[in-house]
Formats: sequence, structure tokens, C-alpha cells
Amino acid sequence: LIALSTPSGYHSRYLRIGPGPDGARLVPVDDSVLRRYLGGVGLGAWVLARETPAGVDPLGPEAALVFALSPLVGSPLTTSAKFAVVAIGPLTGRLCDALCSSHFALAAKRVGVDAICVTGRWPGPVALAVDGLGRVEPGVEAHDATDLWGLPAAEAERRLRARLGHDWHVSAIGPAGEACIPFATISHDGRHAGRGGLGAVLGSKRVKALAVRGDHRTPLADPQRTSRLARDLSARSLGPATEKYRELGTVANLLVFNRLDALPARNFSEGHFAEAERLAAVDLAPARKLARNSCAACTIGCEHIYELGGRRAGVRLEYESLFALGPLCGVSDPDAVLRASALCDDCGLDTISAGGTIAFLMDAAEQGWIDDRLPSGRRLRFGDGEAVVELLSLVVERRGLGAFGALGSRRAAEVIGGDAPEVAMHVKGLELPGYHPRALHAMALGLAVGTRGADHNRSSAYDVDFSGRADRRCGGPDTVPHVIEAEDRAALLDSLILCKFLRGALTEFHAEAGAMLSAVTGWDVETDELHATARRIIDLRRAINQREGWTRAEDTLPARLLVESPAEGLSRTRLEAMIEEYYQRRGWGADGRLPPGRMAALLGCADWCLP
Ligand code: SF4
Repeated sequence: LIALSTPSGYHSRYLRIGPGPDGARLVPVDDSVLRRYLGGVGLGAWVLARETPAGVDPLGPEAALVFALSPLVGSPLTTSAKFAVVAIGPLTGRLCDALCSSHFALAAKRVGVDAICVTGRWPGPVALAVDGLGRVEPGVEAHDATDLWGLPAAEAERRLRARLGHDWHVSAIGPAGEACIPFATISHDGRHAGRGGLGAVLGSKRVKALAVRGDHRTPLADPQRTSRLARDLSARSLGPATEKYRELGTVANLLVFNRLDALPARNFSEGHFAEAERLAAVDLAPARKLARNSCAACTIGCEHIYELGGRRAGVRLEYESLFALGPLCGVSDPDAVLRASALCDDCGLDTISAGGTIAFLMDAAEQGWIDDRLPSGRRLRFGDGEAVVELLSLVVERRGLGAFGALGSRRAAEVIGGDAPEVAMHVKGLELPGYHPRALHAMALGLAVGTRGADHNRSSAYDVDFSGRADRRCGGPDTVPHVIEAEDRAALLDSLILCKFLRGALTEFHAEAGAMLSAVTGWDVETDELHATARRIIDLRRAINQREGWTRAEDTLPARLLVESPAEGLSRTRLEAMIEEYYQRRGWGADGRLPPGRMAALLGCADWCLP
């Protein structure tokens, strides 16, 4: 199947894979859809909406899981080797998408498709191999993966490549995904599509891994212009705007956030961690840093690998892992944090949700709501890094306190009952990332209205707080346009896809993004069109949530974060005023719902209008 009108940068088709002999099918994608949703989280949402029936059980066989590529993948533009994974998330029951990087993105695009959609459930563990090498239509084979079941994702990836050949690239799940832990990750080359439990969706299908290879290269509409833009972008990616990421990595955020009272500690009961200095990047780096690394096709190289006794490959550490497994649990021992982070990687657990859930259980234990004894005899208490490591090791087997841990904080709180839901720090079921909303009011709004739950990446509203574009401690209607602008920009970056760490180097964002898209695809893309595209992608993501049963009450923050009086900071009144203004500026109803006509127009099918 070759589409009649294929813009450069695309293959104009996606591959649907399901169990059974007729399970693989190519589906054409119209030029207009590609231009309207671009790729990544935008195109992934569009494919998901087509392939998933409304109200689906996220872990049921009918649920679809989409690997979505983008027009820029395979181009010389720095940081563009990325893919999105999109599904209905098991933690939230709402749209979930996560980005991951590197050679898998390049190889998947060379298969000759713009997305791969996995549906159904296989009877036993399989590794799906999608082969586009020398074929017009990719071949799909389901290999028995019994011998890979139980292995960490990285080891499964290594063994599968050894078996299939090193021209294959692999995304895989770890034991947490196999066990359908609702915050399990999908991994490739040590990077993770981390948030929201996409690994559990793949595990529910008994798919251990997806392997891809191919030789379909999409032509560039204007190769000279693309090369010029790529050279310029690479040069700027080595400038001051990305220096922090290159020199110290995202862990450098820790002390900065602490100074701003924005570092969540002890299950968000505080925004400052007195022992933060022990975890500071400047001290971690000289004592423990093993290497710096980067995703494929990236000139920045933000990955910092730290030494951990007995682990040859070391541990990749990001700010979010450091905050969640450290201060959020009251832990200041760098060794314990590194071990916990390594354990999350080996099991295939999202570090933010893992740390958030453990911090919630520590709170519940200190309140006397649960039996707090661990098998070692330790009691679960804030500040005990060994307890964090021990509890993590119980989660995948759902053993002892691990049975609570395996539920995520919202569900665990519901099971514990009483006042426990009051201290479960999540939005829509997804645990909060490392930005304390009390000190960052633009971020507070971004987290409350986020499609996939408490989400910093799709919102990026922290930029508004940190840049001073709005008073970070006095959020109000004036804050809202800045939050919308940040969210719209993130929708474009995540659909094009370019790494967010590049954003500081893009001084005229829309003009530059339009120039890149034009050079690759041949479309004449102006700034106005990109604004409209961003809004459409955000509308589509909300429309999917609306279809899945979203209610107005979900757009909020946990009560612990809100004070009584607006004069004292982030109150419910203040937050609600921002949310109302946000809905109005988005053109949604006062109840936060898309107008029915807009729902229909998004997919061109009337059943989307139904509440
Ligand atoms: S900046 Fe970091 S996360 Fe972004 S593409 Fe480069 S190495 Fe990957």
C-alpha cells in the first residue's frame, strides 16, 4: 500500500498489529490528517481515537497502544530522534502519552510507517518483530518470548538484538509491565516512555518487546535548506541555553527549586528540604559521575550516568527521579536514591509515580493508618532510604506493603480509606512531578487541567513561573494566557517532535518550527497555522478524555496543596478562577467541555459528540 499523495517526511500510513494470522494491516493516512496533527503526541492521539473504542478497559485486549513517529525523525535536525507512545492510561483511565528517544525512532520510521498500533492480546509472551527491510509492505512476526519474560527491559533488548541481529532496534518492558503495574514503563536503550503505565498496557497484551528495522527513507522536500537549518540549530544547541543540561543535567534543578521553596518534600507537606545539599549535582558529579551520554542524533547530551557499586553500567539520574526517590520521601542519602532509581529501571517502574506512591504510604504509616512493617523488620518512615529500596522490591510481586505500592497512590488511598485520600498527591490518578504548586501558581494550573493528569511535560507552565512572566506566588486570570502559550508550544514540540531542552535555543519559536517543518515536508507553514495546530491537538486530547468519561471535578489539585484564604497563597478560589479563565480562553464551556460541534469536527464522526 502506497498512498497517492505522500508529503516528504511521511509515509502516509500506519501499521496495525494484532494477534492471529491476519493481524497486521496497513492503514492509509490522509495528507490533511498529517498536516493537522503532525506526529508524536498529536498523530498518536488521532490514531488512538480511531483504534480504541470509547470506555475501553486500558488493560483489556481492545485497548490500543500506539507508537507514533514524526516528520522530523530521520532528518539531520538535532534532538529529533524521538517517538511517542500513546494509550488510555491504566493509572488514570484517561489519555496517556509519553515520549522516548533514540535509535528505535529512526529504525521504526525506516519500517515505512508513521505509527505502529498494537491491539489485542497474545496467548503467551511474544516479541513482535516488524521488518521493513527490502519490502514495500512490512512483515510482522510474533516470536516466542518465554525466555525473555521476567528480564529487565535492557537485558531483554540486548538478548533480542543478539537473536535477531544488530540492525534491529527494540523497545521492551520489564517485570513491572509484565505484572501490569499501572505505572510501568516502556524502555529503549536505557530511556523510558515513563509516565502513566504504558508498560502495563503492553504487558497486558503479553508483548515483551517490539523490534523494528527497515530501509525506507523519507525524502526531504528541501535538503539544502534542511541542512542549513540543522547546522544552525546544532550550533545553538551548544550555547548557553543548554549549558545546564550539558554540564550537570537536570539534577541541577534540585538546589534551585529548593531556594524557591518549590522542591516538594515529605509527600508535598513541605516545599523545602533541609538536607538537599547532600543530593546536590555539584557534589554528585565529581564524586560519582561515570559518563555523559546522549540520545541518537542529539548534540546536547544531557544524560549523566552515575557510579553505583556493583553496577557496571552505572545509573542514569534525572531531577524527577532524584526528587521523587529523595526529598519527596524525606531521603537525603545519595546512595539509596541511586539504588532506588536503578531498581525502578530494572523493574520498569516510573520513578515519579513510584516515589510518589511510597511517599504517600510513608505518610499513611506515620499517621497509623496502615501496618508499616517491612519484611526486614524496618518500619516505613520518611527519611529511610533503605525502606524505599525494600518497598520498591516488593511492588512488582505485590507482596506485603508492596500490594499497596502496586496500586498507585490514588487507588491505594481508596483501599486504605478514612482520611487517606486527603494525602494522596495525584491529579486524575497520576502522581505529581517535582514542582511544588504552592510556590508555582502557573504550574498549579497546568497540573490541574493536564490531560494525562499531574503532568509537567505537556504543560511546561513552570517556564512561566521561572521566567517571571507571571507572579509565581499570586496566580490569577493574568497568569492564564501565559500558561496556554506554554502548553501550546509544548504540544508542537511534542508532536514535531523536538526535545524540550532545545526550547531555550529557539528564540523565534513558531517561525523556526515552521521553517523546519516546511523544509522537511514541503508545506508552506506559517505561524498562524502552527498556533491553530497546537490548539487542535490540545482539543483532540481533551476530546478523548471527554469520551472516556472525564468530569469537571477531575481538573483540580489535592486539598493538601491549597490554603484557606487567597491572600495566603494558592487557595481553591484562586485556582478555580484560573481554571475558569483557562476554559474560557480555550473556547470550551464553563464546565470545561468542548462544544459538541467541535468534538465532531475533530474526527469528522458524529459519535464523538456524545458525552
Ligand atoms: S537533550 Fe537529552 S533528552 Fe534531549 S535528545 Fe538530547 S540527550 Fe536526549
